[in-house]
Amino acid sequence: MERIWIAGPCAAESREQLLETAAQLADQTRENGISLHYFRAGAWKARSAPDSFTGAGDSALTWLQEVQNTYRIPVCVEVMNAHQVELCAKYDIHALWIGARTSVNPIEVQQIADAVRHSAFTVMIKNPMIPDLKLWTGNIERFLQADILNVMAIHRGFPDVQENIFRNAPFWHIPIELKVQMPELPILCDPSHLCGNVEWIPEVAQLAMNYGFNGLMVECHPHPEQALSDAEQQMNPAEWAAMIRHLDLRNDTANLELVKQRSTLENIDNQISTLLYQRMKMVDEIADIKRANHIAVVQPQQWQQVVKRYAKHQEDTSYQEFIEHFLDLLHQYSIERQK
Ligand code: PEP
Ligand code: MN
Repeated sequence: MERIWIAGPCAAESREQLLETAAQLADQTRENGISLHYFRAGAWKARSAPDSFTGAGDSALTWLQEVQNTYRIPVCVEVMNAHQVELCAKYDIHALWIGARTSVNPIEVQQIADAVRHSAFTVMIKNPMIPDLKLWTGNIERFLQADILNVMAIHRGFPDVQENIFRNAPFWHIPIELKVQMPELPILCDPSHLCGNVEWIPEVAQLAMNYGFNGLMVECHPHPEQALSDAEQQMNPAEWAAMIRHLDLRNDTANLELVKQRSTLENIDNQISTLLYQRMKMVDEIADIKRANHIAVVQPQQWQQVVKRYAKHQEDTSYQEFIEHFLDLLHQYSIERQK
């Protein structure tokens, strides 16, 4: 299957910004022999801070229609309600996407599905902010039941309480399980919102290709440093084209069950690795408090509490033996570090 490439700015800022982005993307696709299947832009942005830039709003639709007509690239816009669907229809916008914030609310999603019923819109559904596959598949089913012919999913990662190098945790096993459950559904990856920083985007984009994703949605701005939202994660069109050109599009997904298990393991390893380091950092902080208060480094009762936390699988004796070795190592190292 041919991959689907979507690019464009996080937010529609001005007519000039949209036309400049589209012109540069069009030049890049021509020069590099790659296709751009959709141009993306958020007209209405749901931002966390009340005084952040929220997109150009309704007026962006005229500009996006101009992009669509001038460059003959279908445009996709995020919609959060039926009124926005109506406006997109009025301006002949080809595709809509449901954002991760809307995607947590089945009532709002159903209202949007009712608003697009039997229309020619392509609809892309991002994963919800919470790692709940049923919520995601439920949203997708709402659009299939509304007779939308072209429905796609977009994986953009999941906010995580744990500190992570990425803005959102990939939890690859979730979109891969979606692929198992809905093998006909194209699933794209949005490495921009997943990574939160351009530094990691090419690597994550390649990983998504290896996992058999059907395409990418990438945030592109002609002057990323001047972007009014998500500046750190926007690539310029030349960087985007270079990334797409260098992707290795072979994938190793013949055995989807194995891919799923490996991606679950990857997620577990990422968590263990993050947590173990966090634990050591916490040990350092405790050492500072002990030192300041003249408390002894080794406190046997305290360690007994730790050992108990790891004794939850007594039935598995060989595992408990492993845990004893592991805890010995952990304890010795913690003491050395505190000294
Ligand atoms: C976006 O793509 O502009 C966006 C807001 O994404 P998400 O809903 O994934 O946060
Ligand atoms: Mn964004």
